[in-house]
Amino acid sequence: MPTRKFNSDAVVVGAGTAGANAAYQLARRGLSVTLLERRAASEGGAQWTNGVLDWQFERARLDPPVAPERVSAHRTTHLVGPDGRHGVTVRSPTVTADMGLLGSRLRALAASEGVKIIDRAENLAAKIEDGRLRSAVVEASVHGQLGVVELSAPLFVDASGRGGVLRRTHPTLRRWCPKLRTDELCSAADFHFEVADRGGATEFLERHRALAGETVTMVGTAGGFSTEAVTVSEDLSEVGVLVGCLADGRFGTGPRLLKDLRSRETWIGHEVSGGFGVIPLRRPYARFTAPGLALVGDAACQVFPAHGSGIGLGLIAGTMLADAIEGSVDVGDEAVLWAYQSMFQREFGGLLISSDAFRRLSTAIGGDGAAALVAAGLMTESTVVAGLDQRTPDPTSGELAMLAGRLVRSPGLARVLIPGSIRATLGSMLASSYPERVDERALEIWDRRVDRVVGPNLG
Ligand SMILES: Cc1cc2nc3c(=O)[nH]c(=O)nc-3n(C[C@H](O)[C@H](O)[C@H](O)COP(=O)(O)OP(=O)(O)OC[C@H]3O[C@@H](n4cnc5c(N)ncnc54)[C@H](O)[C@@H]3O)c2cc1C
Repeated sequence: MPTRKFNSDAVVVGAGTAGANAAYQLARRGLSVTLLERRAASEGGAQWTNGVLDWQFERARLDPPVAPERVSAHRTTHLVGPDGRHGVTVRSPTVTADMGLLGSRLRALAASEGVKIIDRAENLAAKIEDGRLRSAVVEASVHGQLGVVELSAPLFVDASGRGGVLRRTHPTLRRWCPKLRTDELCSAADFHFEVADRGGATEFLERHRALAGETVTMVGTAGGFSTEAVTVSEDLSEVGVLVGCLADGRFGTGPRLLKDLRSRETWIGHEVSGGFGVIPLRRPYARFTAPGLALVGDAACQVFPAHGSGIGLGLIAGTMLADAIEGSVDVGDEAVLWAYQSMFQREFGGLLISSDAFRRLSTAIGGDGAAALVAAGLMTESTVVAGLDQRTPDPTSGELAMLAGRLVRSPGLARVLIPGSIRATLGSMLASSYPERVDERALEIWDRRVDRVVGPNLG
């Protein structure tokens, strides 16, 4: 096979939302960028609808989705225990967006800034020289001719999702980025179906005191960390279903939960669209850059662990990376990339460490604990909205007093929730001491401190 050689300032691997935005942001700052995708470019990244947040787009300096990419926004959401008991009703801050259209928008923006997109790129192999990633080879078709493409660049960006194809090959990151255990992964599915029986859909909504166009979210149906969210459209013609549980096999899988739900709710008809996959649920790796390499998105575990949302944080990461390297003589220099990592950890690390503590808490209490939590009124409007908005809850003193009273009446839950909340608060405070300059020893101490407070990610 013929070999073609390309030099650019940056090579981004993975044309999902995180990679497409990283490529766009780097190119906007004057870098020549090559974007590699294993699938057809139009099929890069998530291909279903996801809940996203306008503030995260604004933080990433991107326009929030508009129709048709913006499917719906701020739906009324009813939170329900696994036993069907109603918990709390909130107006959700999330926007439902079409990921296929978002990915297309970002890849078009990247192309408009001169990013060269090479898709259907297979068998990527990275070359490390003197501890730095400097080039990679891939099999791909360029100008209609299949061959080996050799790409050299001072900066490589791994946006290949949770598999982290470059992350795995870099000697520096191997020990910082262990393979995730299955109980640190969420198996999820998000599908739209036709409503086969409007009467059945109406009965479902009445059962949960919900209206068409609202979302019924059941928590704890398959272990403490699990959800089944059902949204029947306003005209009763379609239903959206999002399900997820831990991927360690104890509770089945996302597709299995979906199958079970459909066999219970027989009014759900034929599939219209959707997809399934596995989401990393740990806080971001302590180190996600190395000489010549930066990770963004799921590859870095830049996901809100309490519910496995990674779109917004992955977008923010790409923009932060571009900000950090702007104006640098060597854009892949270890110190330059460390600045990106430190910026991300200092701004979002605290939130994500505490969200990781809550993810562990929800797993620990199990389905019965989730039922008890709902029954005790411990899921309040403000805490639920903060969680959906991926922000730290900030209850008023009145709410705190009310929660304390409810905890006194639920001593079993209090024994788990109080230490868990203390761990979350202490863990979040550690983000501000994240080392600002390259210092592996200081980072080891920092990481061990987080492990001690929140619990280790053993890999
Ligand atoms: C069912 C489901 C529902 C979800 N719901 C939500 C939600 O509501 N809100 C939310 O924020 N998040 C949600 N998530 C999580 C979200 O989808 C991910 O966090 C997000 O897609 C990660 O983006 P990414 O660009 O980092 O990775 P990906 O979307 O995984 O994209 C990685 C890209 O890299 C490509 N690639 C992989 N290996 C190679 C290689 N060797 N060479 C070249 N290219 C390669 C892949 O083909 C892919 O296109 C959900 C996930 C699932 C599975």
